[in-house]
Order: sequence, then structure tokens, then C-alpha cells
Amino acid sequence: MLSSKPYDLCIIGAGMAGSMLAAVAARRGMRVVVIEAGPRFDFNRRLDQLRRNKVLGEPLWPWESTGRDVYTDSSKDELGYSYTLNRSRVKAVGGSTLHWGGMAQRLQVSDFDTASRYGLGLDWPIRYDDLESYYGWAEREIGVSGEPLRSDPPRSTPFPMPGFPMRYEDAAWVPVAQKLGIDVDTVSHARNSEPYKGRSPCVAYSVCNLCPSGARYSAHFHMEEAERSGNCLLLTETVARRIDTTGGRVTSVQVGRLDGSELEIRAKHFAVTAHAVESARLMLLSGLGNQSDQLGRNLMEHWYVAAGGFGEERNFPGRIGFTTLESHSFYDGPERHDRGAIKVEFGGGSRDPLMVHSSGGVWGSPLAAMDCNEFGHWIDVGAEIEHLPNPDSRVTLDLEKRDVFGDPAPHIQFALSEIDHRTHRRAEEILVTLLEARGLRDIRQTIAFGRAHHHMGTCRMSADPDMGVVDPDCRVHGVENLYIVGSSVFPTGGARQPTLTIAALALRLADRLTG
Ligand SMILES: Cc1cc2nc3c(=O)[nH]c(=O)nc-3n(C[C@H](O)[C@H](O)[C@H](O)COP(=O)(O)OP(=O)(O)OC[C@H]3O[C@@H](n4cnc5c(N)ncnc54)[C@H](O)[C@@H]3O)c2cc1C
Ligand code: SF4
Repeated sequence: MLSSKPYDLCIIGAGMAGSMLAAVAARRGMRVVVIEAGPRFDFNRRLDQLRRNKVLGEPLWPWESTGRDVYTDSSKDELGYSYTLNRSRVKAVGGSTLHWGGMAQRLQVSDFDTASRYGLGLDWPIRYDDLESYYGWAEREIGVSGEPLRSDPPRSTPFPMPGFPMRYEDAAWVPVAQKLGIDVDTVSHARNSEPYKGRSPCVAYSVCNLCPSGARYSAHFHMEEAERSGNCLLLTETVARRIDTTGGRVTSVQVGRLDGSELEIRAKHFAVTAHAVESARLMLLSGLGNQSDQLGRNLMEHWYVAAGGFGEERNFPGRIGFTTLESHSFYDGPERHDRGAIKVEFGGGSRDPLMVHSSGGVWGSPLAAMDCNEFGHWIDVGAEIEHLPNPDSRVTLDLEKRDVFGDPAPHIQFALSEIDHRTHRRAEEILVTLLEARGLRDIRQTIAFGRAHHHMGTCRMSADPDMGVVDPDCRVHGVENLYIVGSSVFPTGGARQPTLTIAALALRLADRLTG
């Protein structure tokens, strides 16, 4: 039950950032309340839900509330497709980690100061060294399996679990990379290579977006820990609508519930952990944090580029396990003066009968012939590329479209610059070179600016209040007790997966608040 006494900490959003922050703050004795817009899923129903997804085609996470989770988008001209936001996030306890891919990576040292090194992007007001110990702590909290790599930034603590062996179809790329003089690396994962924190090891069945065993980490595990401590109250299906301030301090948050009731929540400290789109939207709705006119701007993704071709032998890629091999040979170096970082990801998917069918609309014997010719022969390779900060790429409020509470929906507009197009063209060149060296035929690009589902920017971190939304401690410029944590505060995003950095920032804030 909600206490009438102000809480020590009110957290808005129970995804990776919010759950990690709640668990550590509650562990250290703070009285915490967490407001989460979505529902809580019953872990024990995962297998059933997986079955319903595979057999009946139901969504993996049936969370979407059409009234609550509205948005509008005008990215089609830039990307060639409309950005379906609700396929790139989950609103529920655990947030988007309920169905993330689980690749858990630190940003590179160079990602923190691309402006100084390369004259592109922006320097973070903190450096890799400021986060290093928090990265190690995040790896231990989450449970990350990996091997130290030559291409990795320096680490002071080992991975808590050994890395996974290379997938057989990934291993086939090693001699190709060697022939081309390209370095390859294994991949660190937030999935157990051995039993960890009471969760079982991974059995490599490859249905990871709804891992039924719990081998792949999801942030709901930390939310459960926070609740077990007795210091944390979680309110589900509860949406933060406005943050109220008096004299440069937040006094309360106004929330709405789907049953129509309203609440006011009071606390000493407030943390917005609602991910890049909703954090910016809530700040815009509250009229806070926009003295620099940067709020909502610089919305970034990691764009996914893919190409493939046909091989003589059948090797059925993508059927077991997950990506275990990548290359950082094109991440840094002199080329990064002219374009963003590129990370090659090997493996890729096969064209199985269902994919052939759904992409071609082919039936009967032509479909059977296509299956015979293509199934197992198609091999593709992909790359994640950096999207440089761009003020025209942004989240704004759509006054025409409102949610169930009458609040303006977030409007998203991704924008690409000439540099992003250059990065894309270079990535395509690299992928084609790899495919040719593998001896494939009928090579073609299959994805140009595909989404990696990583939303970054919109509330960026800056030392100068005129340049961003939060300070280097993630505190909103000009508001004493309000923090934003997540990839929304990233000034730049590199080309490595963002979520370990989100966890590290959450742990750093937990330390600041409880230290
Ligand atoms: C398919 C897919 C694959 C991915 N794979 C990877 C990967 O391999 N590696 C990686 O690093 N990242 C990956 N990601 C990205 C990763 O999931 C996100 O970076 C991460 O989950 C973001 O954490 P967060 O806590 O900031 O936000 P979220 O997890 O999105 O949580 C935010 C929470 O806030 C709640 N909320 C929003 N607005 C309000 C409000 N007004 N009031 C109350 N609550 C609110 C939402 O309901 C949500 O639960 C993937 C994402 C997807 C979708
Ligand atoms: S391969 Fe299976 S056990 Fe391993 S993380 Fe994926 S779904 Fe879970």
C-alpha cells in the first residue's frame, strides 16, 4: 500500500535502469517506490506463451495497451519504412529486457570522446575510466558470460562466467576473415554459460526473445529482488503523467492508472528511467529540463545493415544458439574521421520455408522449388553502425494524438545525415567483400537502415547546462533532486549494444544516492 510518508526514492519505469537502481537502493536501506506503466508477467507462464507465439502467432509479450502506448512517427521518408516503436520496446516489469537479444557489451574507450579524436559527434563529459568499475559491477549483477578480448576496452575484473563456444556457422567465417586480414572476436552475453544466481545455464535452443528457462537475464529479476527486500513498493499499470516542482526541487509525481484512479507520489529523490522516448516525453509534458532546447533531440539508433548470398553447401545458419562472433576491425581508426563506427556481426539467419513464403508470397510447387534451392543455402552477415547525434532526429509531443489520459502522444522522427549514409555505404562494402571472399553467389543487400531496437539520446548528458539535459551525475540541470538514467542520456552511441552501459549508469547513480 502507498505510504503517506514521502519515500526516499521514486523511480519511473521498471526496465533495466529502474529495476537495477531499485534493487541496489532497496538493498542499501532506502525506501523505494517504483511506478511502472505496464503489467507484471507471470514467469511460470513463459513456456505456454512461447507455445502460443509459435503455434498461434500471438505476440511474445501481449503487453500493448492501445490507449496507453500511442505514438506517431514520421521517419518513413528517411528510413524507407515507418518506425513501429511498439515492436522495439516492451512496457512491463522488466521493460525491453523481457525480449532483448542479451548481447552485453561495454562501449569502447573511443566512444566517449569522438569529437576530440575524430572531429565527429560529441565528447561525453565522463570517460570510460569513470564507468569502468560500474561496468564490472553490472556484469556481476546481471551475469555476463564472456572472454577477455583484444578489441575490448581495459577491464579490472574478470567476466563472472566463461564465454560460450563459437556457433558452427560462425566458425565458418573465421578462415574467411583470416584471408582478408580481419580480426574476429567472440561475443559477451547476458546469458548463463553455467548456473548463476539460482538461474539455469543456457541450453542454446535459440528462442531467446522469450527465454523460458531464465538463462538469459531480464531486469524483472532485479525488480523481484527489490520487492523481496521489503523496502520497495512496485505499482504496475500506473503511468507517470507530470512531475511537479517548487523552487527547483521536485515535490511529487502525478500518476494515472488504467482503472481511472489518480495518485500523487512524494519522495526525496526522483529518477526517470522510462527509456529514450518516454523519458523525453514525460520531461516535455512536465515542462522540465529544456533550457538548452536539447530535450527530445539527438534521438539515435544503431542501424542494422545486412547482406547475403547463396552457398553450394547447406549449413542452415541461425537455427541453434545466438551470435557468437563479431569484428571490430572497422570500428576505430583513421576512417572514423569521415564516418561512424561499424561493428560486423557474423552468423545471421537462414531463409527457412516460412521466411521464403512470407517474403515472396509464393505458393505450391514454386514454393517447394524455392525451398529446395534456398533453404539452408542462404548465408548472411550484418553490421551495426553508429548513428551520429543530429538535432533534427527527435521526440516531440503530438498535440493531435492523445493517450487514454488525454496526454499528447510522443512523435518520433529519425533523421539521417550524409555521414550516416557514408557509414552505411562503407558497411555495405565490407559485407559484400566478406560474402565474396566466402565464395557466395547472387549477393545482395537485404537490410539498409534496419533497426537494432536501441533508442538513445533525447536527454543528453553535458557538463554545460546550455548543451544538454542532465549533468555528468545524471541529474537534470537546474533541478536539485531529479535524475534521468538510461541510454537517453548518451551523447553518442558508438556501435556496441547499449544496455550494459545503462546498467552501469544506474549503479553509479545508486552509489551517488546511497553513498
Ligand atoms: C528485440 C530487441 C532486442 C534487443 N537486443 C539487445 C541486445 O542484444 N543488447 C543490448 O544491449 N540491448 C538490446 N536491446 C535494447 C534493450 O532492450 C534496451 O536498451 C533496454 O532494455 C533499455 O532499458 P531501460 O530500462 O532504459 O528501458 P526499458 O527497458 O524500455 O524500460 C522502461 C520502462 O519504463 C516504463 N515507462 C515508460 N513510460 C512510463 C511512464 N510515463 N510511467 C511509468 N512507467 C513508464 C515502460 O513501461 C518500461 O517498462 C534490445 C531491444 C529489443 C526490443
Ligand atoms: S538459447 Fe534457450 S536457454 Fe539460452 S538464452 Fe536463449 S532461450 Fe534461453
